[in-house]
Amino acid sequence: AESSAAPAAESAASVASAPAASGAAGFAADSTIGVALPWLGTQNWKEADEMFRTQLAAAGFKAIVQHADNKVPQQQQQIESMIQNGAKVIVVGPVDGSQLGSVLEEAKAANITVIGYDRLIENTTGIDGVVQFGSVKTGELQGQALLDGLAAKKGKGPYNIELFGGGPADPNAPNFFKGAMTVLQPKIDDGTLVVVSGQKDFTQCATLDWDNSKAQARMDSLLSGFYSKKEIDGVLSPNDGIARAIITASEQAGQKIPVVSGLDAENESVEWIWSGKQYSTVAKPTDLLVGKTIEIIKSLQAGSGMPAPTTKVNNGKTDVGVYELAPLVVTKENAKEVFAKDAGRLALLK
Ligand code: BGC
Repeated sequence: AESSAAPAAESAASVASAPAASGAAGFAADSTIGVALPWLGTQNWKEADEMFRTQLAAAGFKAIVQHADNKVPQQQQQIESMIQNGAKVIVVGPVDGSQLGSVLEEAKAANITVIGYDRLIENTTGIDGVVQFGSVKTGELQGQALLDGLAAKKGKGPYNIELFGGGPADPNAPNFFKGAMTVLQPKIDDGTLVVVSGQKDFTQCATLDWDNSKAQARMDSLLSGFYSKKEIDGVLSPNDGIARAIITASEQAGQKIPVVSGLDAENESVEWIWSGKQYSTVAKPTDLLVGKTIEIIKSLQAGSGMPAPTTKVNNGKTDVGVYELAPLVVTKENAKEVFAKDAGRLALLK
């Protein structure tokens, strides 16, 4: 994946409606819609799998919903078979943002509309739009939460911190990191934050395949290598699974629990935030993301084409319309408010 995909600073008003590959003519109300998810390893993808099945069926479509267990060839084959099965729209959360070029060119040639879901698809013209929460913005919220948490929980600085990134094949991961560093780098430069290991580049901090156990192993070795005589105050974590791995490693090393950021508002992390074990997460509600995607599919079905996007992003080959939603930081202080209408998560706050 390339990290070149920062959202362009264009306003909604200046962006013309994107031409749809197939949508202009509409299609039958009971058409086949394909959904290719990367894996079900984090709660957001399990929710998406469930919601796409239920909501596409409720809208009258035939749904093919699959996940690729984080394997690129498996995802290529799944998309290939969705094309063969006559899908009118294929929704894709790519395993690797840059490995779907040829299969999506094929989809384009077959007049299938391709919508990126949660993750951008890079280096191909075979994408008609992407529905996502702002990924650089998400990182900014994570970086700011880490700073706020340090001030609230760890007294006056300087603070000893470490940095973690997500899976390098996922185009979101470098953007999350980049967003966080726009907030953290000035504080590193002025000495407020000290990255004791010196590991500050995305490539040094990334977690292959978003694998929690790899993050835990890296945290173990950071703690034994750099913190045998020091306290660690905070850790930037790109999501909740990795946050819990970092917290577990810290506890096992006999450290006081550092301030740790997160993402996804996973149930277990919502509980940990409520009990004070994890400092923050970022909510990007799956129902909003799936709802927006289905709204676009219905517009295509009706022959109204792709709605006007919020902004555009260059994916290395073309400008892609982005349907952007706003992520929301969650701490113990605002959790009840944020989850007021989310009965499942609200029930965890006790
Ligand atoms: C998603 C996160 C998720 C991560 C790992 C990212 O692309 O935006 O919500 O935690 O993938 O599954």
